[in-house]
Amino acid sequence: MASAAKLSSRPLDRIDTGPRFSEADAIRLNRMFRASDTNELLTAVLKDRIAGDVALVSSFGAESAVLLHLAAQVDPHVPVLFLDTDKHFPETIAYRDELVARLGLTNMQVLTPDPVDIAAKDDNGLRWSWDPDGCCDLRKVRPLAKALAHFDASLTGRKAFQSSGRATLPRFEIDASDAQGRLKINPLIDWSAADIDAYFEAHDLPRHPLVEQGYLSIGCAPCTRPVKPGEDPRAGRWSGWEKTECGIHVPGEAGDKDLPPDYEPVF
Ligand code: SF4
Repeated sequence: MASAAKLSSRPLDRIDTGPRFSEADAIRLNRMFRASDTNELLTAVLKDRIAGDVALVSSFGAESAVLLHLAAQVDPHVPVLFLDTDKHFPETIAYRDELVARLGLTNMQVLTPDPVDIAAKDDNGLRWSWDPDGCCDLRKVRPLAKALAHFDASLTGRKAFQSSGRATLPRFEIDASDAQGRLKINPLIDWSAADIDAYFEAHDLPRHPLVEQGYLSIGCAPCTRPVKPGEDPRAGRWSGWEKTECGIHVPGEAGDKDLPPDYEPVF
């Protein structure tokens, strides 16, 4: 990418099999938007289309309402991708529907796992208990990869304060999950927990109902516990495992593991 003007006018050719963006593009975008606020960034992405076709990936978790609200102000037709793993808390599904209606989002897309994959590799639905990487691969990584193949960039709601693994993330990066060169855009990466709280307050946004029970980061029900005082907000995710991300944000190597001989499901 040679310049901002070239970036904003560049037609993204679907026949072009090369990567859409390069590391140099991500660096240049981070410099271009160094002094911009979140709304300016979202306007450039969603209205001026500087990153081509963009989808917002949302878990409809504890803080998701902020990015969804910000994006809806710029473009309520933005595609919003939700991974329905079939393992969510019922409260999450209800909250999702409430937020979509409240914010006037018109392009909600629910992604589900391939039933053939599930039948072959998680027929009893308990893979999470002995191979969470493999379970996330089937229920999150693969469906999202399939959906994102149609987009040039994705928006995430990640914040630096959520965990040490997210502390140094930039606003723009290359999605390393494949070789397509999609941009991954983190508009809220520099927001503090206080900023998030203030935004909820200022816009009277509803909270996920599990937040008041101590769930500060909310994923699938079997893999999420409330967070104790002093812990990272994401400490309740895959507690007891080395795992800290589902594979969407960190390239994973979810293999085709077989059940171990001494396998006992952990409930
Ligand atoms: S978070 Fe847990 S239940 Fe959900 S897809 Fe990953 S391992 Fe499976």
